[in-house]
Amino acid sequence: MIVTTSWDDGYPADAKIAELLAKHGAKGTFYVPDRNAEGRPVMTPGEVERLARTFEIGGHSIDHIVLTALDPAELARQITTNKHSLERATGTPLHGFCYVRGRYNAAVKAAVRNAGYTYARTVESFHTKLKADPFDMPVTLQFYPHARATYARNFAKAPHPARAKAFAAALRAPDLEARIAACADACRRTNGILHLWGHSWELEERNLWQLLDDTLERLAGMPNVRFLTNHETVTYAPQL
Ligand SMILES: [Zn+2]
Repeated sequence: MIVTTSWDDGYPADAKIAELLAKHGAKGTFYVPDRNAEGRPVMTPGEVERLARTFEIGGHSIDHIVLTALDPAELARQITTNKHSLERATGTPLHGFCYVRGRYNAAVKAAVRNAGYTYARTVESFHTKLKADPFDMPVTLQFYPHARATYARNFAKAPHPARAKAFAAALRAPDLEARIAACADACRRTNGILHLWGHSWELEERNLWQLLDDTLERLAGMPNVRFLTNHETVTYAPQL
């Protein structure tokens, strides 16, 4: 079973997530914009560099704006300039991009590929395997106590049978802790991939830090668990 985690938006409390991941020997990929048009603060290049010493950094556009409505030149600029500034900060090439607000189309996908990325992460939940297209990297569950209606909306956008099991488990479970446990159990039985993702500003707002600590401890204690970054998952998982 593979466990991979990803954290979006470059909010400064990402450092706290990094601390908990390191504590439990877990891995993470942090998708960072240059700044956030929604008004939230973003880590400085120095803070990103520190994070990159232990974790994977991925792109998330310059301004954290929805990319599907942009003209081709601005679309390319949002993706490429962000990639270059993160590569300058970290001193290493970036491999992965995360679509802002999960929104993408063929043009956005092509622009991400043209920028030199090799994979892109979506927000399509309830997956426990990768898809054939690395620019369509799915996730399993957001680290956030969503209402059941939110899960239903996410599932209804692409009601694929491969998602049905984890979706049903998420609906049945009474809380986030139980949902993660149910998804982890499904992954364990099928040599699947548990991809948890979230935002550190949401962990802060809902005070989910203890739950993340407990969750990582439980996952690290499961037999045959392998923690990988998002890039490692895309690179190695198809052969496992
Ligand atoms: Zn985001």
